[in-house]
Amino acid sequence: MKEDTRIVHAGRHPARFHGAVNTPVYRCSTILSENVAELKEKVRNKFDMVDYGRLGTPSTMDLEAAVAELEGGARAIATSSGLAAIAGCLTGLLSAGDHLLMTDSAYFPTRKFCDEVLARFGVETTYYDPLIGAGIADLMRDNTKVVFTEAPGSLTFEMQDIPAIAEAAHARGALVAIDNTWATPLFFKPFDHGVDVSIHAGTKYIVGHSDAMVGLIVCKTPELFTRIKSTTSAFGYSLSGDDAFLALRGLRTMKVRLEHHQRAALEIAQWLEARPDVTRVLYPALPSDPGHAIWKRDFTGASGLMGVELAPAGENNITAMNAFLDALKLFGLGFSWGGFESLAIPATGAIQRTATTFRAEGPVVRLHIGLEDIDDLKADLDQAFAAYRAAAG
Ligand SMILES: *Cc1c(COP(=O)(O)O)cnc(C)c1O
Repeated sequence: MKEDTRIVHAGRHPARFHGAVNTPVYRCSTILSENVAELKEKVRNKFDMVDYGRLGTPSTMDLEAAVAELEGGARAIATSSGLAAIAGCLTGLLSAGDHLLMTDSAYFPTRKFCDEVLARFGVETTYYDPLIGAGIADLMRDNTKVVFTEAPGSLTFEMQDIPAIAEAAHARGALVAIDNTWATPLFFKPFDHGVDVSIHAGTKYIVGHSDAMVGLIVCKTPELFTRIKSTTSAFGYSLSGDDAFLALRGLRTMKVRLEHHQRAALEIAQWLEARPDVTRVLYPALPSDPGHAIWKRDFTGASGLMGVELAPAGENNITAMNAFLDALKLFGLGFSWGGFESLAIPATGAIQRTATTFRAEGPVVRLHIGLEDIDDLKADLDQAFAAYRAAAG
């Protein structure tokens, strides 16, 4: 089955729901049983049967099945946000005394979770250079249990050599996890590249309309699923039927949406790169990007999120960046991304590093290229560049 077909049919069972095309919203805490034997059977098979609202409903289970099938994993776990998926994966796989290797380019709240929560529970985190590749072998210790990756990195967009990292990690008995949000289950197949657990902020492209928070933990094997689900269910993680419904509805059109995001983002990246207002564009689909060769080797597409380093404005860097962002009319100023709309945020000031240094002479902004007309977006950026030049002096 081709992917376009799979994304329409995965996790969908109209016959179970009077022929309704979409799995309905299940709003429930209590699930009634006919008799004690049925009640007990549900408790015994609580990860497979509908037993209690917190553990899963047909709405969340169909979402989990669809995403697991698309990405090629055994099973998935839906959570109430992408960050909850990261926390669930890490606590499911790590115990006191274990060591975690975390990419220095990780999504900032992931770092915060390691430094402020995992540390309190006796898990030590070492940050590593995202470009380390096979060199990760030198950082592996006997108690290193997880190597966590994210490609491309949050705000800075470095690509990682996932197969090389996975080979070195597996050689020492460690598991490999990835935050695969940028690529979605469509543009990078982590389980074909040595990854054991893949995480998505479904909030982004899967939901796709900026109207729900959703996380997904996709596990390569049933054993990993049981291990992580035991932890997430012990913590009481769950996802509402309403939000699972929105994620499933978004998923059905994700491929066509991403095709537009990709085409528009690449065209705008090339247009930006050619301007004197721009020093460089951080977007691995660009042939000039340092991560392009890895992207081309391992990924089958690029989404709509990129970094842009503006021409240096010296001591006016921040004022000029703010003038640029304030001048944008079609690009909204706001966190998150992956919805239908274009967005911008300042990246300068938000990039946190401990193992490496991110160098940029000019200010860096992050752009999400939405589904608007490409020429309208270019015109909006063009007039914001005029504001930038005026403020840069
Ligand atoms: C947004 C994001 C998350 C967190 O997702 P939420 O649903 O907002 O909690 C995790 N990783 C990456 C790369 C993200 O961009």
